[in-house]
Amino acid sequence: MILILLGAPGAGKGTQAERLIQRYHLHHLSTGDLLRAAVRAGNELGRLAKSFMDKGALVPDEVILGIIKDYLTAHKGEGLLFDGFPRTITQAEGLEELLAGQPVKTISLEAPDEIVIKRLSARRVCRSCGKIYNLNTGDIPGSGACACGGEIYQRDDDRAETIANRLKVFHQQTEPIIDFYRRRGAFLQVEGSGSPDDIFTRLQRLLD
Ligand code: AMP
Repeated sequence: MILILLGAPGAGKGTQAERLIQRYHLHHLSTGDLLRAAVRAGNELGRLAKSFMDKGALVPDEVILGIIKDYLTAHKGEGLLFDGFPRTITQAEGLEELLAGQPVKTISLEAPDEIVIKRLSARRVCRSCGKIYNLNTGDIPGSGACACGGEIYQRDDDRAETIANRLKVFHQQTEPIIDFYRRRGAFLQVEGSGSPDDIFTRLQRLLD
């Protein structure tokens, strides 16, 4: 199965991806996680990506499609979950070309702006394993450190100034791909409000 998880920043893609990959035995490709790892490593990709990420803007399509092409070559024939990709029509078309007829299922996690702004402002992430926490749900361990021992921090782009721009970019550049996939069929919409457990139950109902 190749699954594409669409949705605004903060719609719950990362949290649900962690569960979906376990349940359906998929490899998880989060382009955001991959770019953050490159920024930490300080390599050429990281230096390029940082300037866009800091502003809440998208990294150029050709850079992202190059990453995806390498990933698909390395994971040929395996079950995959794309999280945070594609984000533009050009990326969606590029993926379609790379997949050369392999079927995909697309799920759009739908959550209103008010909810995603609240979630993103309260989101905290483990710097080592990427686990996602939320200040409002009291799920951060008392020690302040992640279960893996890593530091729990706030992503630079989860600060209020950048959130507004990321949402604008989502509505302008990413939302149009919902129509792109709707026209191709195998497109599902899931209500992205409520608790992570509620949302996962809805996803399982559609995928089992
Ligand atoms: P995310 O963790 O998915 O919210 O991504 C964080 C940031 O990484 C985004 O705001 C973009 O700057 C960049 N990014 C992640 N995925 C993509 C993509 N598919 N296309 C362009 N930029 C991306």
